[in-house]
Amino acid sequence: MLTLKTPVSQLRGIGPSTATKLARLGIRTAGDLLSHFPIRHEDLRKTTSIANLAIGATTVIKGRLQVMKSRRGYRRRRMTITECLVADATGTARVVWFNQPYIGTSYKSGDEVFLIGRFTNSPYGPQLQSPLIEPVRARQLLAGRILPVYRSTSGITQRQIRSFIETALPLAQRLPDWLPKELRMRERLADLGTAASNIHFPRSPELLEKAKERLKFGELLLFSIAVLRTKKMREDRASVPLAFDRDATVEFVRSLPFKLTDDQRRAAWEILRDIEGRKPMNRLLEGDVGSGKTVVAALAMHNIARSHAQTALLAPTDILARQHFKTLQRLSRKRLRVGLLTRTQREWAEKQPPTKHQLLETLKRGELDVIVGTHALLNENVGFSNLALVIIDEQHRFGVEQRRLLQSKRHDRVPHLLSLTATPIPRTLAIALFGDLELSFLRHLPPGRTPITTQVLSGTDEQRVFAHIRESARRGEKTYVVCPIIEESDELGSAAATAEYERLKSSELSGLHIGLLHGKLPAKEKHKALDDFAHAKTHVLVATPVVEVGVDVPDATTMVILGAERFGLAQLHQLRGRVGRSAKPSTCFLLSESDSPDVLERLKLVEQTTDGFKLAEEDLKRRGPGDVYGLRQSGLPEFRMASLTDLELMRRAQAASRDLLSDDPDLTAFPMLKRKAQAFVTTIHAE
Ligand code: ADP
Ligand code: MG
Repeated sequence: MLTLKTPVSQLRGIGPSTATKLARLGIRTAGDLLSHFPIRHEDLRKTTSIANLAIGATTVIKGRLQVMKSRRGYRRRRMTITECLVADATGTARVVWFNQPYIGTSYKSGDEVFLIGRFTNSPYGPQLQSPLIEPVRARQLLAGRILPVYRSTSGITQRQIRSFIETALPLAQRLPDWLPKELRMRERLADLGTAASNIHFPRSPELLEKAKERLKFGELLLFSIAVLRTKKMREDRASVPLAFDRDATVEFVRSLPFKLTDDQRRAAWEILRDIEGRKPMNRLLEGDVGSGKTVVAALAMHNIARSHAQTALLAPTDILARQHFKTLQRLSRKRLRVGLLTRTQREWAEKQPPTKHQLLETLKRGELDVIVGTHALLNENVGFSNLALVIIDEQHRFGVEQRRLLQSKRHDRVPHLLSLTATPIPRTLAIALFGDLELSFLRHLPPGRTPITTQVLSGTDEQRVFAHIRESARRGEKTYVVCPIIEESDELGSAAATAEYERLKSSELSGLHIGLLHGKLPAKEKHKALDDFAHAKTHVLVATPVVEVGVDVPDATTMVILGAERFGLAQLHQLRGRVGRSAKPSTCFLLSESDSPDVLERLKLVEQTTDGFKLAEEDLKRRGPGDVYGLRQSGLPEFRMASLTDLELMRRAQAASRDLLSDDPDLTAFPMLKRKAQAFVTTIHAE
């Protein structure tokens, strides 16, 4: 019997190789198929008469085929070209298919068919190019329907994925609806089964809208519950008020190798004042890449340590955690006893790396002031003697749940929370998302930085870039080469970086020392690659976009971004921020594989401005907040259906969650909702 948990490999038409491909899309069970929501729909209910065909639009034509013939291409002999005319009562139109020989063998002149495709201009005049074709029959699979379009992967066609999902569709009615019934009635929302079914194959646009509304509302409700609970937890319990040790702070600031900027002073002051209070701090420090957020955080940690209390610093990647560990050791010059804990690394000041047990015991006894780490810190066996401050670096990479988990490491009091981000989040949005929240800004970069020159080039200009890289290597300066984002697969990204590395090493940049950094390398090799780049002989580091997150190598003065058109503007800006970290002039090359004017115009914006806020705004205009603030790109929680523009729906969900929790803070009356809310984790994307 088919259930939600049935592995896809047991469904009709899915063999082992298809199952592997589906797994790449995160689909392993029949239930996963149901929740693989379409990215959009094509409304194929209306047919267009041939006389009314307009260039550019996707249209459905119903007509008879005439003068059908297939031939070989003139220039490319291996290509089959199938041509015909299609006629209805109003006229005829040309149709052509490339390399689909079966069309010529399965259809003949006189057949009545539906054709679905785009009507485009060609040297021979307007024509329908490679349309989908379907004979007129009792039950159409394509024409006449509102057809879902899915995110897919190579080797799986839309037709296949649609048919797999249709197989699983009857299960939708068995999904237990976790939304309380009264709430659903009051908000006039579809039930889960209906919504889960109509999101795929709706019979009308209205039903599709109802399905979307229900699914989005559900996500936003869970999110609001998480935010409210965090807020309540902080309001209910006092924090650990700690004295602001002015003299020690002044002395620490004097010892730094640079002078703090006014912005840094102000932000540090705001943070230290919060920490003195009984109300747990919840502050977001926003500052562009390279604006110097780390040292501000270090001042807070130092003050906490002076009061014999502890800080946990959570970073999204191993690389970044280790870099923070080293930076804190260097900046604090033994003022801070720092430990490092990730899934693969354990370090502290002692020469010998500690065992995990040693490190955890030392932390528990209060003999470490700061523990830096990745998700490993969230593990339940990590305990503190006096945790007073939680710092989340690159906060957008973590969810509400991770913040809550780390803060709940202490039971009697609530630790202060400081989040760091380079994503320019407008105040209103931040407050909607995180409840009450204070903001500090670092608006200006530290002085003495030479502005970065940015150049948009097409792939054919590569030689210029190679010459530039050789020249700068001769001066002892370093270059990042960032490989394009490839779909969503880290696997492919790592393979592409490896291939690029081999190519550069053996030809264009032979003779230079080249390193490789990607997500699939073992942690040890990652760190070695980065260390060699930062401190040793590596001239060029070929990397997947993992370097985006916070890496600091002042000698790096050239950034080469391949396939730049595949990145968002804000993300290009983040990557560019890896160079220009010293007084030496830096260059960023954006190499585009496309020379479409739209693409180049978009990339030129990065050439024209170094203002991260402006670029984020442009992204917002062009691509919508889902992309800009989408977790994968650069910020905020990732919803499958909802987006941050759904402000009205967000307001409704927030009001509903407030109602629910004020009557029943533990949600005891709604066990299913409770379980769902507990499991709700705004996804984390580790490397
Ligand atoms: P981000 O805000 O991107 O996390 P970092 O904290 O990594 O930036 O700082 C970027 C670089 O700027 C580091 O090398 C840091 O030592 C340096 N830096 C920070 N503050 C100053 C300052 N006031 N003057 C000069 N350099 C600074
Ligand atoms: Mg940083």
